Amino acid sequence: MTATRILVLNSGSSSVKYQLLDMRDDTRLAVGLVERIGEETSRLKHTPLTGGGESGGESREQNRPIADHDEALKAVAEELSRDGLGLDSPELAAIGHRVVHGGKQFTEPTVIDDAVLKEVERLIPVAPLHNPANLTGIRTAMALRPDLPQVAVFDTAFHTTMPESAARYAIDVETADAHRIRRYGFHGTSHAYVSRKTAELLGKRPQDVNVIVLHLGNGASASAVRGGVCVDTSMGLTPLEGLVMGTRSGDVDPAVIFHLMRVANMSADDIDVLLNKKSGLVGLCGDNDMREIRRRIDEGDEAARLAFDIYIHRLKKYIGSYYAVLGRVDAIAFTAGVGENAAPVREAAVAGLEELGLAVDGELNAVRSDEPRVISPEYARVAVAVVPTDEELEIARQTYALVANRVGERND
Ligand code: AMP
Repeated sequence: MTATRILVLNSGSSSVKYQLLDMRDDTRLAVGLVERIGEETSRLKHTPLTGGGESGGESREQNRPIADHDEALKAVAEELSRDGLGLDSPELAAIGHRVVHGGKQFTEPTVIDDAVLKEVERLIPVAPLHNPANLTGIRTAMALRPDLPQVAVFDTAFHTTMPESAARYAIDVETADAHRIRRYGFHGTSHAYVSRKTAELLGKRPQDVNVIVLHLGNGASASAVRGGVCVDTSMGLTPLEGLVMGTRSGDVDPAVIFHLMRVANMSADDIDVLLNKKSGLVGLCGDNDMREIRRRIDEGDEAARLAFDIYIHRLKKYIGSYYAVLGRVDAIAFTAGVGENAAPVREAAVAGLEELGLAVDGELNAVRSDEPRVISPEYARVAVAVVPTDEELEIARQTYALVANRVGERND
């Protein structure tokens, strides 16, 4: 098979992020972003990474109104063509789409056809912000290259292995089933990638290690992975449950919601915005960037200190509970923007947990690097690791594995 390139598309409601990769050696050929689609101030930023092409590796920007996803993808296709990487190239094997919600049924990456589109559409009530945008991106890409396999890689898929005891909420079964209310989990491609990479870092096979993955970005989630299989995760029906995040509250007593409805006269939509956009770190101290919060703490800012402490307290609770869920833990892996960069968060999250075999070596923790690395001292029973995530590479790999197999099947 000569087609070895995969285009990865992550379509949001007003943005499209993309990467073109060559799967022979996982190299990135181009990356880019179209933002503010539908506004006057749309922007496309395209960076060819091959060093060749018209711009020789320099980023190019288009600042002009881009009306919709169709126009956005056409502009992306043109930029790729300028570098000799056009979407009409026979080297393009497939397009891999990030799809946020795959419900219970999508347990694997899936080649998209009409039935799959219908199912993703049926899941809109549980992912009202994400699935419509993902669908728009898919439909646009299908119109552009109808002959090419288009693959959906679901954020929820890695978590479909959770046992019912972890996936169900303790609410009336009939009501839950009628409305598909259960814990789905998100960031699945990241948890899958990082748990596997952590095993590799320890020189072991994924099936032989138990890992707690802490994906701490602007959105944040923890997962308990036993022998490569997810057994629990902190996000639930939606990405709101679990850890304290940049703008999301994470766990709250559900009674807070009806209390606000009754005493503050807030609507369901008002509370949705409050808990998803105005809570978490930003709600606690006005900033959601951990760098800024650390800077303010250094200046003696009390609100920033308390926000940090609440963030760490929640994180510790999840480390403890996933330790109990797994029984034996071989590694804890920190990933995403905060997890990969914020040494004080890593230090504070495991502080005082020596009895659980957890410790961080101050010097190793302070090292800045893009490489996966162990930051616990040699004597520690559990490895604490920093493992940079790469969701695009994981989507590209899963997409390529699927289409390469299909070509193999056709040849058999
Ligand atoms: P992500 O969603 O994975 O892109 O993570 C974004 C978040 O990572 C930002 O909101 C910051 O809080 C955090 N972050 C990025 N770089 C750093 C850094 N050098 N130190 C601390 N936090 C960082």
